[in-house]
Amino acid sequence: MNQTLNDYRNELHYMNHAILKLLNKRARVVMDVLALKKSENIPLHVPQREMEMLQDLVDHNLGPFSDETVRHIFKEIFQASVSLMEERSGVSMRVGRASRCDLEIRVGDQVIGAKPVVIAGPCAVESEEQMDLVARVLSQMGVRLLRGGAFKPRSSPYAFQGLGEEGLRIMREAADRYGMQVITEVLDTRMVEKVSEYADVLQIGTRNMFNYELLKEVGRKQCPVILKRGFAATIDEFLSSAEYIAMEGNEQVILCERGIRTYERQTRNTLDISAVPILRRMTHLPVIVDVSHAAGRKDILADLSRASLAAGASGIMVEVHPFPAVARSDSQQQMDLEEFAVFIKEVGIELMRPVAREYEPGNGLKPIVCPEGLPLTRQGA
Ligand code: PEP
Ligand code: MN
Repeated sequence: MNQTLNDYRNELHYMNHAILKLLNKRARVVMDVLALKKSENIPLHVPQREMEMLQDLVDHNLGPFSDETVRHIFKEIFQASVSLMEERSGVSMRVGRASRCDLEIRVGDQVIGAKPVVIAGPCAVESEEQMDLVARVLSQMGVRLLRGGAFKPRSSPYAFQGLGEEGLRIMREAADRYGMQVITEVLDTRMVEKVSEYADVLQIGTRNMFNYELLKEVGRKQCPVILKRGFAATIDEFLSSAEYIAMEGNEQVILCERGIRTYERQTRNTLDISAVPILRRMTHLPVIVDVSHAAGRKDILADLSRASLAAGASGIMVEVHPFPAVARSDSQQQMDLEEFAVFIKEVGIELMRPVAREYEPGNGLKPIVCPEGLPLTRQGA
């Protein structure tokens, strides 16, 4: 008598269970192997042995599965075994969520990982006057976290590279005058010590997310680190880089999504908004979003910020310059001070103190004139 569809289904069901039983039986043998390897100090993962097993399986493959498919299926099984061994031997990510509570990182009187925070300041530190003005106005608005690059990683080696240590000093003094915290990038292992003398938070830029020696070096420091996602890095690679820092003892890592490179040209990068909730599930570290470097333009910053906060970000980073038109880097994406005041209203983020009256949008700004003679207005920028 012909088999019915139900007979086939029952047969498949029985086979699935048989395969499952065998897979778990195999996993138990893998754990016995692990115990033996540990007691005899043999490496856990032996690629040569894996290749031999795959070849043996292909040699015995009678089809209908192709050799390629057999390789693929067993590669997955072997990988699951390696992961099991790593899990059992205690190789688990320090930055992994596991069952940990959200990490809160204190920077001055702000807590990153609690209520949303704003990190603002120019792309680069350019002069005493620029930093004094921006720090004064931002602090009056209630911003406590001041950003600015003293060492600038520029695509062109002939572009402005930052003021170096002089920039660090200028920024530190401006921040101290207005009760702010300094967030600045460190580009190189040789500069970690020096930058740490001035900074409250060390920033690792997108180009250095894969610089493992630099990550390890900041991992030996005790101050918080903002790690920016590489513009071509996957989320897993991003977390592995955070792990490099944590592994050295510094677990105060703030992850910063800042856009990844795609074929889209309307924005400088594509803000990967899905990275925010995914990271929040995968790690207990706080996640912030740099909307300025993601967008590369000013008109969508408030929308991107709202989206980021709705997705679970603990803060927003933006570039603000008193006179963006004459900024020495990223001129087109930096907001002027009035635009920043409008931005804060639109995003609805609560700052440390209410926005000072004189900088409320539409209230008219005092006609501060920059050295080049440009008035501090949106038209001037
Ligand atoms: C910056 O924040 O100053 C910067 C250079 O950003 P990124 O590394 O994300 O390009
Ligand atoms: Mn910039």
